[in-house]
Amino acid sequence: MPVPGDPQLISSRVGVVGAGQLARMMGEVAHDVGVTVSVLALNEDDSAVATADHVVIGDPSDRAAFVELARDVDVVTFDHELVDLELLDVLAREGVILRPGPASLRYAVDKAYQRVQFAEHGLPVPRFIVVDSRNDPALHAFLDSVAVPPVVKVARGGYDGRGVFFPDQVGDVAALVESLDTVVVVEERLELIGEVAQLLVRACDGEVAHYPLVTTVQSDGMCVEVRFPSQFPELAAEAAVLGHTVADLVGAIGIIAIELFVTESGLVINEVALRPHNTGHWTIEGAATDQFSNHLRAVSGQRLGSTEPVVAHAVMVNVVGADEAAMPAAGRAISGAFVHDYGKTWRPGRKLGHVTAVDDDAERARVTAWAGALAYGTRTREAT
Ligand code: ADP
Repeated sequence: MPVPGDPQLISSRVGVVGAGQLARMMGEVAHDVGVTVSVLALNEDDSAVATADHVVIGDPSDRAAFVELARDVDVVTFDHELVDLELLDVLAREGVILRPGPASLRYAVDKAYQRVQFAEHGLPVPRFIVVDSRNDPALHAFLDSVAVPPVVKVARGGYDGRGVFFPDQVGDVAALVESLDTVVVVEERLELIGEVAQLLVRACDGEVAHYPLVTTVQSDGMCVEVRFPSQFPELAAEAAVLGHTVADLVGAIGIIAIELFVTESGLVINEVALRPHNTGHWTIEGAATDQFSNHLRAVSGQRLGSTEPVVAHAVMVNVVGADEAAMPAAGRAISGAFVHDYGKTWRPGRKLGHVTAVDDDAERARVTAWAGALAYGTRTREAT
């Protein structure tokens, strides 16, 4: 097993599958961490092309494109989970170093696998079943047992609320399952007191460090705002213990983000991601080591950086394209607003950037972050 920090073993050339904003922000810090970044981009104008040292154009499910990326780097990591696990298995056997590896990635790629594994290990997940047909007798037994219509989630390929359905009536579920025509998770709809996220980073020798717990605010199934510290300080210790357990079970290398529901009966796992995550963007301004630097440190075999906060309060607001073109410069004109523009062409509904504000006062941080995001032109609105 590699020893983090051993200069002989540092993988200084990192390949990133995907070239969205997460890869872009890895590129922004790569040189400070002592690595170069090569990205596998679908298109020449992908977000991360602007910050990468090298670019390979191609589809990650195309073996030739993947091999072209892997050939000139020491280690490959990921900016999204829309990957072909079978291809990754083959490449890993052929000697490509993937961090995280395919067995870990499966937890993020396949919600059904994740729910089944976590339940088997006694971790708190919503009561659920996995089905691929409306005729499955287990579906009818499950529907008979729920008081409110359950949530239906496609096992693979969903993100930002796409692939998650909230039927109005229990009677609508069977037809929905049929129309989706794929493996789905049907799970009880929980009454949420709130939602939080636990971010951790795991080194290649298994050392794990956790960031402080944050609150996430959702609208239309999409995270619009993240607040540090979380409004549930009494849950921080429980979330951290759960986070360490999940990180070890999954065998993560790099950042692992765990989205959690806060319910009457405690924390319940929603989902995990094995890459830098939207709920960790505040760490750029708010923590001793931002999540992108720590991800690159971990996957390149270095020692982890401190995950301690360096501010009292941080608020991050996502900027999503509205009907009018976005204006990052107008966001920057707001004093105290840190504007991160992902360099994407404006399109209504597209995630274009984020704005963070840090302050000694929680309310001032929130007001400044929203002022920046609204001036920038986000269509997201503050939750009331
Ligand atoms: P995605 O993977 O697309 O981000 P999620 O599974 O995180 O989708 O679901 C999006 C949002 O839907 C969650 O943040 C939460 O607000 C709501 N949600 C999902 N599952 C449940 C559930 N079982 N009970 C109540 N709300 C849920």
